[in-house]
Amino acid sequence: MTNHLFDAFRASIPAPGRLLIETDDGRSISYGDMLARSAQYTHALTQAGVRPGDRVAVQVEKTPEALLLYLACLRAGAVFLPLNTAYTLPELDYFFRDAEPRLVVCDPGKAGDIQPLAASAGAATLTLGRDGQGTLADSAALQAMDFADAARGPDDLAAILYTSGTTGRSKGAMLSHENLASNARVLVEQWRFDADDVLIHALPIFHTHGLFVATNVILMAGAKMLFEQKFDPGRVVSLLPRATALMGVPTFYVRLLQQDGLTKDAAKAMRLFISGSAPLLAETHNAWRERTGHAILERYGMTETNMNTSNPYDGERRAGTVGFPLPGVSLRITEPETAKPLAQGEIGMIEVKGPNVFAGYWRMPEKTKAEFRGDGFFITGDLGMVDADGYVHIVGRGKDLIISGGYNVYPKEIESEIDALEGIYESAVIGVAHPDFGEGVTAVAVRKPGSAISAADIAGAIVGRLAKYKHPKQVIFVDELPRNTMGKVQKNVLRETYKDIYA
Ligand code: ATP
Ligand code: MG
Repeated sequence: MTNHLFDAFRASIPAPGRLLIETDDGRSISYGDMLARSAQYTHALTQAGVRPGDRVAVQVEKTPEALLLYLACLRAGAVFLPLNTAYTLPELDYFFRDAEPRLVVCDPGKAGDIQPLAASAGAATLTLGRDGQGTLADSAALQAMDFADAARGPDDLAAILYTSGTTGRSKGAMLSHENLASNARVLVEQWRFDADDVLIHALPIFHTHGLFVATNVILMAGAKMLFEQKFDPGRVVSLLPRATALMGVPTFYVRLLQQDGLTKDAAKAMRLFISGSAPLLAETHNAWRERTGHAILERYGMTETNMNTSNPYDGERRAGTVGFPLPGVSLRITEPETAKPLAQGEIGMIEVKGPNVFAGYWRMPEKTKAEFRGDGFFITGDLGMVDADGYVHIVGRGKDLIISGGYNVYPKEIESEIDALEGIYESAVIGVAHPDFGEGVTAVAVRKPGSAISAADIAGAIVGRLAKYKHPKQVIFVDELPRNTMGKVQKNVLRETYKDIYA
């Protein structure tokens, strides 16, 4: 029987003895182990009552066993549903009721609290801990090391992945076997991964970046990962000589730059540094190039679509852009209200279509319908433009657009001006309710250490550079911007914090 995605991984195995994973605590898992042990986990799922099409909700720490569980879900024909380890009990309750999983897998230490919630949503509970132990691992250890994989076609669901919740309540994106397989294949080819690659994997595995971009690419290339429980910049620097590639969020690169050990020599064996999930500052890109001799390759994707665009492997990796649409992905810029295609250089809604684009939001048919155009293009919610050379620029999220005095104000334009000032580390520009203007343009800025730059300095610097209606009505200095686990700036938190400043 064919199992669309797992068959593709199986076909990419270089040799059973080659390593797939090395952990920071000295364990290693070969491709042969992966096959045998994921079969054991598949039997354990089946024994727990999991049947093709069932959801398996998973809130566990990052371990190789958690990846075996992901692969076991594929092999059982189940739908893998990973959840952020930071989610609280009321949040889990929401996800269980929404997804109606057959089985919940959680940390042994949390099982006492989680099991009743799972039970009331009709799910059994098994455990898997930080050390790879628990009732799921115990059951798997007793099972046969081969399994006849459930038949799954390209359009069958492989996973439901909840979005990061940056702009509101997380939505469950339904991802098919072909959504994941096609994207992994394209990325392997675009980024030139092969069986000799060694990826430093320091991302969480409940999010599309660490799970589908990093892990699927490695499985599809038959390559190896150095699997780190968490991101520790000093450790990552020490791993560079043993690795060929790193995938990170922008904050990784910022924090790595603070390490003295980060030098051209340390990065000599590396061939590729990739960034995504949030915008990489041009300043970080430039500092990285100076320090290591490498141009970070920035790409753009989202939970619903996997990856959409990437800077080129060969050719100019342009700072501040997310590169070109990937092969097979169609991208256009439209006027948000009318869907009218806009000319090159104009800012509008980014829409995409391709084999990477999800099947819809889980149990939200109305929302799904509202986010797709009649001709199948998905409305990303991100605003951007395509420059004269075809590079895609993201200017921000539609929801972050500020309308002040009837004018559209794109926060990115103002942030870029402020960020370029000596003494400013970074900034976020938001719209805050204002009695005269509807929304008042408001800048929240972080100074560089030792800098005494003032709001008046900023106002003076941008006066000749930006139209008056774009000038911040207030500049607020903070020590750091609020970010979620993926390094995304939480503008909704800022808007909430400063909502009364013009009242
Ligand atoms: P939610 O949809 O629940 O509000 P979210 O959009 O942050 O949360 P994700 O799917 O994890 O959830 O993130 C996708 C978003 O991340 C994109 O829509 C885009 O806004 C942003 N993003 C990803 N890569 C980049 C990048 N290279 N540059 C700028 N933004 C990026
Ligand atoms: Mg989103």
